[in-house]
Amino acid sequence: MRDSFDREITYLRVSVTDRCNLRCRYCMPAEGLRMLRHEDILSYEEIADAVSEAVAMGFRKFRLTGGEPLVRRGLPDLVAMLSRIDGVEDLAMTTNGTLLADRAAALKGAGLGRVNVSLDAMDAIRYKAITRRGNVADVVAGIDAAIAAGLTPVKINCVIAESPDEPDARAVAAFGAERGCQVRFIHEMDLPTGKFSIVQGGNGGNCPACDRLRLTSDGFIRPCLFSNLKYSVRELGPRQAIRQAIAAKPEAGRACDDRTMNGIGG
Ligand code: SF4
Repeated sequence: MRDSFDREITYLRVSVTDRCNLRCRYCMPAEGLRMLRHEDILSYEEIADAVSEAVAMGFRKFRLTGGEPLVRRGLPDLVAMLSRIDGVEDLAMTTNGTLLADRAAALKGAGLGRVNVSLDAMDAIRYKAITRRGNVADVVAGIDAAIAAGLTPVKINCVIAESPDEPDARAVAAFGAERGCQVRFIHEMDLPTGKFSIVQGGNGGNCPACDRLRLTSDGFIRPCLFSNLKYSVRELGPRQAIRQAIAAKPEAGRACDDRTMNGIGG
C-alpha cells in the first residue's frame, strides 16, 4: 500500500519482546526499565495473524526485533510459523548476538533468512562498558555461527556517537571486513528530542524513502519511530490497524516520548 506521500510501505518490523539481557548505555538505564506485563505481550499466533494480514496488504519484508528477540522462549517456533506464510519473501532478525551461537542453526532450519548483529566495540572492556553486561566473545561466536549456518548476509549494526572514524567503530569495521560482513553505522538516536540521522550503509532514518511500519510486542502498529502515533491490532484488528497507520504515516519523524527504544524495536 502507498501512504499519503506516495511511499510504498512493504516492510514490517516486529518486536517480539521489550526485554533484553543487556543494558546498553544509549538504550536503557543500568537498573533497566518498567517492562510490559506478560499478559500484554502478543502470542506467536497473534503475531502470525498480523503478519498474514500484512502480506495480504502487500508487505513482503519482515524483521524480528526486541528488546532482544532471543530472550523470548521458543523463537524458532515463531520463525517457522512466519516462514510458512506465502508471500513472506524476506524474514530477517536484529539481535545483540550474545545468545546467537547455539541457536543460529535452529533459526536457519526454521526458515530465518538473515541477521543483523549489534556490535559497537571489539575491545572486551569497552564492549562491557557500553553494554554493561555482555561479553564480546559471545557476539563474535554468534556471528561466526550465523555465517556457518548460512544466515547470510550477516550485517553488523555499529552505534557511533559522531563518526565511523571513532576507534571502536574502526575496530568493528576491520572485524567486519575480515568476516565479510557489511558494517552499518548508526548515529546514537534520542527519541524524545527527535535526534536521528540516516543509517550509513542502510535505509533507516531516510524519511522520503521510508517503507516501514512497526508492530510492538504489545500489539500496536506504529507508523513512525519518531512519533507517538499507534494503532492497536487487538482493538482494531491487524488489517484496520495497518490501514490506519499507513493513512496517518507522517512525512518525516519528529519525536517520540511515549515509549523507549526497547519498547518499539528500533
Ligand atoms: S523517522 Fe519515521 S518516517 Fe523517518 S525513516 Fe524513521 S520511521 Fe520512517
